[in-house]
Amino acid sequence: MLASWRKAGSLARAASAGQRRFLSIHEYQSVNLLNSYGIPTPKSIAAKTPQEAYEAAKQFNSTGCVIKAQVLAGGRGKGHFDNGLQGGVHLVESPEQAKDYANKMIGSKLITKQTGAAGRICNAVMLAERRDPSHEYYVAVLNDRSVGGPVLVASAQGGMNIEEVAAKDPSAIITTPINFEEGLSKSEALDLAKKLGFKSEGAQSEAADIFIRLYRIFKDKDATQIEINPMGETSDGHVLCMDAKFGFDDNAEFRQKDIFALRDISQEEPSEVEAQKYNLNFIKLDGSIGCLVNGAGLAMATMDVLALHGGNPANFLDVGGGATPETVKKAFEILVSDPKVKSIFINIFGGIMRCDYIAEGVINAAKELSLTVPLIVRLKGTKEAEAKEMIRQSGLKIIPFDDLDEAAHNAVKLAI
Ligand code: GDP
Ligand code: MN
Repeated sequence: MLASWRKAGSLARAASAGQRRFLSIHEYQSVNLLNSYGIPTPKSIAAKTPQEAYEAAKQFNSTGCVIKAQVLAGGRGKGHFDNGLQGGVHLVESPEQAKDYANKMIGSKLITKQTGAAGRICNAVMLAERRDPSHEYYVAVLNDRSVGGPVLVASAQGGMNIEEVAAKDPSAIITTPINFEEGLSKSEALDLAKKLGFKSEGAQSEAADIFIRLYRIFKDKDATQIEINPMGETSDGHVLCMDAKFGFDDNAEFRQKDIFALRDISQEEPSEVEAQKYNLNFIKLDGSIGCLVNGAGLAMATMDVLALHGGNPANFLDVGGGATPETVKKAFEILVSDPKVKSIFINIFGGIMRCDYIAEGVINAAKELSLTVPLIVRLKGTKEAEAKEMIRQSGLKIIPFDDLDEAAHNAVKLAI
């Protein structure tokens, strides 16, 4: 039980850390951003069709190239496509081969450790000049709660899953606090480059410059995370960023218009995009119990109580304090459009939110959508009596409860 409770908690955290709160941009867009700050990357060209991929690959005839699926998720290299193609990153020997890979990638879904089973649609690929680094490093800039500010996290064991490195050998990860206003000084950055083991003086200096500039981007652009994995050191002593994952703070949208113009809705969960239009705080999860709750705290508590009773929430949904019968109805439509949902648990604590508004929205939705899944409802607080009367008179099969545990227990039972 504890395990399932933990899982629900971490799922919610993972979902809330997704791109809805932290805009993520494609690798080919990240490359432009890095280059605009003077950070070196392999030369690259984005392509939206197999023919464009063919033409792009021709430009790299002398070096050979790699083709990389442009999907907003990490772990592309080790992922697979829904059509069976293994790997979202491939070495390419000829323009014909680039075209062939692009043909299989574009229009298919890439499934990686980070996408969930449904995967994400690949609408573009990036062709990059092939580089063969003699060593791969990991570098990230992010905010760290324990430090109370930004940090640079780096490791000489790059190119692989950093979570695994952190678990097996925490000493392989070096965390450097960054002064928020001043950024990294050249000497701090050089010290780090030496500790990481960059060999020549030239490479140390190039790596240090990259660290300094990464933080500049982080601060200028209101990023929440920049992850470079791998950062490659070439045998002739140069350093370049071979992959980049960015996250930007959604609260900064008003002053980061250029960055937010890069948003790609095709990479987001359609139900979450729809919910946003109605100001509903909705995050899709993998379970079978649809939840409709008011207040983020109550939504978390509700998910926990469901998990304690052995159930799995299908979503996090906070209709907020300003919900109207119309937005409640919309929320309901989004819930029932998920075929995994086997029961719906409505848990409302009426304060500012009126229970009768919820009841009206639910009744309208249930009638219009000719609902077949059982509805478990717990309404407490403002206009509770009116709401209960409306439900009773509706003649719909809505199962009311006053006790939270009992309600949760039944929502779980009916979802099996
Ligand atoms: P991710 O799996 O989503 O992190 O995608 P990456 O862009 O990091 O690519 C996956 C892996 O492919 C990298 O860790 C590299 O090991 C490898 N790779 C990418 N580009 C090149 C390249 O130009 N040359 C070589 N040899 N390997 C590459
Ligand atoms: Mn990578």
